[in-house]
Amino acid sequence: MRKAFLYRIYPNQVQSDKLDNLLGVARNIYNAALQERRDAYKMQGISLNYFDQAGELKELRDLFPDIANLNCSATQDMLRRLDKSFKAFFRRVKSGEEEVGYPRFKGRNRFNSITFPTYGDGVKIKDGRLYIQNAGLIKIKLHRSLEGKINTVTIKRECDKWYAVFSNMVDVMPLPVSDKMVGIDVGLESFAVTSDEEYIENPRCLRQSEAALRVAQRSVSRKRRGGSNRHKAVTLLAKRHLKVKRQRADFAHKVADRLVQEYGKIAVEDLQIVNMVRNHHLAKSISDAGWGQFLSILTYKAEYAGRELVLVPPNGTSQICSGCGSVVKKSLSVRVHNCPVCGISLNRDLNAALNILALGRSVWDVTLNRSSCVSQEAVGVS
Ligand SMILES: [Zn+2]
Repeated sequence: MRKAFLYRIYPNQVQSDKLDNLLGVARNIYNAALQERRDAYKMQGISLNYFDQAGELKELRDLFPDIANLNCSATQDMLRRLDKSFKAFFRRVKSGEEEVGYPRFKGRNRFNSITFPTYGDGVKIKDGRLYIQNAGLIKIKLHRSLEGKINTVTIKRECDKWYAVFSNMVDVMPLPVSDKMVGIDVGLESFAVTSDEEYIENPRCLRQSEAALRVAQRSVSRKRRGGSNRHKAVTLLAKRHLKVKRQRADFAHKVADRLVQEYGKIAVEDLQIVNMVRNHHLAKSISDAGWGQFLSILTYKAEYAGRELVLVPPNGTSQICSGCGSVVKKSLSVRVHNCPVCGISLNRDLNAALNILALGRSVWDVTLNRSSCVSQEAVGVS
């Protein structure tokens, strides 16, 4: 399976200018290729694909020495990246989603990475440093050792700091077998609640950074556009964003590690964030808690450890009674589930976690015994 390793790199001023320059080249290629697709479609009704555009690269590289500065495979990767965003666009249009955005031109601040698709081609670790074609040998801090075989390397700029992300193929390392099962619900007050009645709280340092982030956001919105104070406020905001992002990721890794250690089977809600955005209150709490990020981390850790993770449909898990299956309607502000039918009373999110576990079990039953149609119906409850 794939596993990513992130390291900070420390280019000197000259190297950092060169990296900036390479990012600029990559961005120009991306934008020019996007322009070409738009024009071809507008003027001739033709949809260009990756191969059409990649076929022109050699000529472009001969004409513009600037473009030739960027490694050839990395240049192709830019076109592939554009191709992916078009494919995603068409897929979303086809599935009838509302407000699908056409792929957009990228401004300097929206474009911050280059990917070298083959390790050894334009990028390589050499004498404890990272060699990048046309940027030189750059200091890299390998704070943990790389595992497996390196596939791709992405160079990233974030708030004027530089990073290298290695995407490697590593062997799956199964953990000792565990029969324990768990359902996990996104908490509104806690970060998450498990069916074992564990309330997982956001760490204090993260809550503090989030509060500082909100202050920085307000500060930006109060400053006059184009003013130097606004520029300072924006820089501060970006720094705080990055800090919150780090802390969230760090926390998500710790929680996911622990859950994967303990449980052999894990059920979580398959949250379609798009649907959630319509409900503002919920959308806010979900994005705040970084649930999407947590899910992706949990997914790969579960896979890496040979655990079973199942995504269950999210609808109705908070309204159904985990005790008797009756539907007990309640708004978001109602924090306790009181069932008038069977009489149980418990925390709303815990009730949901128990329902998620029950849905998970029905899926695991199906995989154990494929003829069980009862379970399949149960999964369809939504
Ligand atoms: Zn009940």
